[in-house]
Amino acid sequence: MNSNFDIVIAGSGLGGLVCGYILSKNGFKVAIVEKNRQIGGCLQTFSRRGTKFDTGMHYIGSMEEGQVLYKFFKYLHLLQDVRLKRLDNDGYDIISFNGERYKYASGFEHFIDTLSQNFPQNRADITKYINKIREIANASPLYKLQRVNTNSYIEADYIKTSVDEFIESCTRNPLLQNVLTANQPLYAGIRGKTPTYIHALINNFYIQSAFRIVGGSDSIASSLASSMQSFGGQIYTQAEVEEFVCNEERITNIRLTNGNELHAKTFISNIHPQVTMEKIHSKLIRKVYKERINSLENTISNFTVFIKFKEDTTLKYLNSNFYYYEKPDVWACNNYDEKRFPQSYLYMHQCENEHNPFATSAQIIAYMPFSQVNKWANTILNHRGLDYEAFKQEKASLLLDLLENEFPGTKAAIDSVYTSSPLTYRDYTATKEGSMYGILRDKNFPMQSLVSQRTKIPNLLLTGQNINSHGILGVIIGSIITCSELLGMEKIMNDIALCN
Ligand SMILES: Cc1cc2nc3c(=O)[nH]c(=O)nc-3n(C[C@H](O)[C@H](O)[C@H](O)COP(=O)(O)OP(=O)(O)OC[C@H]3O[C@@H](n4cnc5c(N)ncnc54)[C@H](O)[C@@H]3O)c2cc1C
Repeated sequence: MNSNFDIVIAGSGLGGLVCGYILSKNGFKVAIVEKNRQIGGCLQTFSRRGTKFDTGMHYIGSMEEGQVLYKFFKYLHLLQDVRLKRLDNDGYDIISFNGERYKYASGFEHFIDTLSQNFPQNRADITKYINKIREIANASPLYKLQRVNTNSYIEADYIKTSVDEFIESCTRNPLLQNVLTANQPLYAGIRGKTPTYIHALINNFYIQSAFRIVGGSDSIASSLASSMQSFGGQIYTQAEVEEFVCNEERITNIRLTNGNELHAKTFISNIHPQVTMEKIHSKLIRKVYKERINSLENTISNFTVFIKFKEDTTLKYLNSNFYYYEKPDVWACNNYDEKRFPQSYLYMHQCENEHNPFATSAQIIAYMPFSQVNKWANTILNHRGLDYEAFKQEKASLLLDLLENEFPGTKAAIDSVYTSSPLTYRDYTATKEGSMYGILRDKNFPMQSLVSQRTKIPNLLLTGQNINSHGILGVIIGSIITCSELLGMEKIMNDIALCN
């Protein structure tokens, strides 16, 4: 193992890989160290009986030529390697309130027209909603890759109001309010906390165009990794960071659990900030900073059922994402009640082959807090005990029964099912308590819940979903912000403009 680099990045999630790509392309000698055998973090996939399953990247938006993610994909040389299938233009997301269905259509006008069919009296409200989210996305410094000006940031309405307040300001119709917030599992929103801009950026992103990744989200990770390696970058897997070792002024090296050390001028941590702090034993990080980071609330985790359908099934491929709620009270899911599990779920078919009209595999994702699996917190993968297996089986059955009500005949088409819990995410990504999207943004504490890419140690930067925002767009933008500390934002912006 070579041990001297310009930059060492801890973690090969999307954030680590995008930083690795940009910095090695710009001439830095970069290494990424990843604790797992497989790179990618949430972009990892796993295979069972010949079927590949995604774990944390199911659909992406704004990928038409000229749209925002398309531009970033072009800059990151991803267009050639990542195959996409467009989700149904007339309903890329379907919302079901116990059987009553509503559709989100692609394109702003089409979205308004489609929902207005269900809510003819509220067309003006839906138009107001669309205009507002477009306005917020366009005003967001993140979309324009501008540095956040902290004073204007905390004063902005879209930071100071929560999603529920924003939606209530668009329409007084309670059913429409619930329909407009029903894809909130995309950001694990909390009533009274999640700031409006999170909802606005995500929906503005998907309404423009929505796509599934064909053949597995690991194609994003492997494309970034091989590009980075072609620029001379190194990636070490099964290389877990034990400590960021500091002298009086800075980090000198990282030490891995296998005893190896890597030295560099600059270090970037793609590891959750709270876990990163546990790996630094230096006065350079003041107690008060650590305490602030450690006190931040994380978004909820999830329980997932992975379904492999029978090879000869005639079950049709569902080209939409399906959000189920037991009743039109979307925010009620925040009050997780074990006895009422699952109050909601997200059901998606995977796309192995864009020309296959039949379903091959699917996932059902439901909220689950870590407290549900706490009693197995000290166990390790595949050795958690029979009671844990029984727990997972019971939860899977509940989800499959509900699914069967909405899509009769599905159960008969199933070949096999597999499950994951908050423990799985905790152990595969080292995210606190298996949190889906990392630190929860809170409109009541806008500055406290904003984690900067800079730390108190001059040669330690942070990257990943906890910097600014989660999801494919949030993490790519966050990574660019991290890299701008070394390259300058203007240089990166120019490069993006040049290749588009
Ligand atoms: C269930 C689920 C569904 C999702 N669906 C979508 C979607 O459809 N669309 C979308 O845009 N976004 C989606 N997301 C969000 C998206 O996947 C994430 O925001 C993004 O991938 C996070 O990237 P990251 O780089 O911040 O972190 P991570 O992916 O968590 O990567 C962190 C990496 O650091 C490594 N690491 C941790 N500790 C150490 C250590 N000590 N030493 C070395 N390496 C270490 C981990 O192993 C991991 O590889 C989803 C997330 C989840 C959980």
